[in-house]
Amino acid sequence: MITIKSKREIELLEKAGHIVYLTHKYLEPLVKPGISTEELNRLGEEFIISQGATPSFKGYEGFPYALCISVNDEVVHGFPSKRKLKDGDIVSIDIGACYKGYHGDSAWSYKVGGITDEDKYLLEHTEKALYEGIKQVKPGNHIGDISNAIEVYATKHNLGIVKELVGHGVGTTVHEDPEVPNYGIAGKGPRLREGMVIAIEPMLTLGSPDIYVDSNDWTVITDDGSRSAHYEHTVAVTSDGVKILTGDDKYGER
Ligand code: MG
Ligand code: MG
Repeated sequence: MITIKSKREIELLEKAGHIVYLTHKYLEPLVKPGISTEELNRLGEEFIISQGATPSFKGYEGFPYALCISVNDEVVHGFPSKRKLKDGDIVSIDIGACYKGYHGDSAWSYKVGGITDEDKYLLEHTEKALYEGIKQVKPGNHIGDISNAIEVYATKHNLGIVKELVGHGVGTTVHEDPEVPNYGIAGKGPRLREGMVIAIEPMLTLGSPDIYVDSNDWTVITDDGSRSAHYEHTVAVTSDGVKILTGDDKYGER
């Protein structure tokens, strides 16, 4: 069931989203060669708690950590560990925070030190694919318009689309209806209405989009070892378009 949020609920979702944004901004300068993903997780968790929120993912369906931190060929749901980031890595950090019962969910991919032109291309165009999706958010459009815009953009840029994982509604639970796939047909799927809140999250790869799940039962990894990026915002459908709840709301920037 797709829920329509009240003005008060949108305010709480915006507050949760802002805490997620601040957590990204806090961690961004710490993403450097030598830091372990476990350390980033600990610092992120402490920061979320310092803001009066709790990490949405910790304990969610048994996920054991506050943040999902996925390195290189890991697409999503990476387990923080003693693994130290190295120059040339790319790392996707997915952050969820719950404030007064309402969630925010946003992922960004970061470069570690100097990265290859190919990896820069992957990061740049996965982020742009997210904004292509966000541009389609307005009352009267359909989920399929978002999905199609991401698919068309990713395909045009020769990036693989991981299809097994999708965006989702966000509210008093971090994952709710509707599903927001990263591929689809324009004009199809649920119609967008003012008060709907959804997370849009393209997961794109440099190689084949085929994936497998690690023996930890969580971490999604590319079959061919190619690198993957993940960008996600939680957004609200407003009377005249869209509001990004997990950004600084400067459209298309951060
Ligand atoms: Mg999400
Ligand atoms: Mg997420």
